[in-house]
Amino acid sequence: MDKIKRFIDCHIPVETCNLRCHYCYITQHRRFAAGLPRFSFTSDFIGRALSKERLGGVCLFNFCAGGETMLMPELASYAATLLGQGHFLMIVTNGTAGKRFDEMLKSPKMELERLFFKFSFHFLELKKRNLLSHFVENVQKVKNAGCSFTIEITPCDELVPYLDEIKAFCLPRFGALPHITVARDERKPGELPILTSCNKDEYVNIWNTFNSDLFSYKMSVFGIKRSEFCHAGDWSCYLHIAIGDMFQCYKSNYNQNIYKDIESPIEFVPIGNNCNENHCYNAHAFLSFGVIPELNAPSYSSLRNRICEDGTEWLNPIMKSFMGSKLNESNQEYASVENEHVG
Ligand code: SF4
Repeated sequence: MDKIKRFIDCHIPVETCNLRCHYCYITQHRRFAAGLPRFSFTSDFIGRALSKERLGGVCLFNFCAGGETMLMPELASYAATLLGQGHFLMIVTNGTAGKRFDEMLKSPKMELERLFFKFSFHFLELKKRNLLSHFVENVQKVKNAGCSFTIEITPCDELVPYLDEIKAFCLPRFGALPHITVARDERKPGELPILTSCNKDEYVNIWNTFNSDLFSYKMSVFGIKRSEFCHAGDWSCYLHIAIGDMFQCYKSNYNQNIYKDIESPIEFVPIGNNCNENHCYNAHAFLSFGVIPELNAPSYSSLRNRICEDGTEWLNPIMKSFMGSKLNESNQEYASVENEHVG
């Protein structure tokens, strides 16, 4: 079974969306007028730039746009290329782009087993637009194709009166309750507090009723400034997939463009003890894959999977094993490298 070599979080420059969720960054900044970007690099070029050989092994790519990721015109061809290289791929989606799902699910089954969809379940918007059954159909489609998936709710105060209705809707259709993330208030970019008018205890009590390990873990590390040695920059990175600019993390001390000369090696430089963020707000991915090994975070697979009432699971066995692996199983920790020189 493959183990994760690097986690490549990709910025997809799509800033428009077909939904208008009020808690979304795009809505808060009124960016819906943005057109779709042009991607000037062919999928063949992307495949060579991001080959297993150049990246050192099998990587997990995360495709997440500021708007709806599935609106990216080149998505299916880029995805097929990365899967064809043997990598694993996660796509964040609002679950409404039916035709794009059909396009993506044409890949061979052994490649689709390495494809994971993170469905953001925007219940009130879907209900208002009469898209709830369309969303359910798309979840079924990816499940039937052998892909893995998770369903996640962005908690907001406006949803609270509908929680029983949401649970009653989800259990028979998805086999389990959605996971819960933690929404940041993007209007306060420095501190990125939780987007709610509840106090922390009220917030936790309300959303804990979904028994989501994702929510519990995110809350346990939310707001904590990290000062340990972080391997982001080497074991993980943030890549602008359209242009090749690569950063250590969202706020980076060292940047490079990895498309300028794809024959040259990529320089992987860890951020170390110099994390620039007030807190690791995507800790559920970075810390669970183990960029700070000493933290012993739960595995990413345990935060994304659900075991359904009929015994099936949201993650297939291949994805569950891969997402359960840790970065220090395929990489050497910097402390160990230093010790070798000392001895
Ligand atoms: S602690 Fe988190 S936010 Fe900071 S550099 Fe590491 S991965 Fe990035």
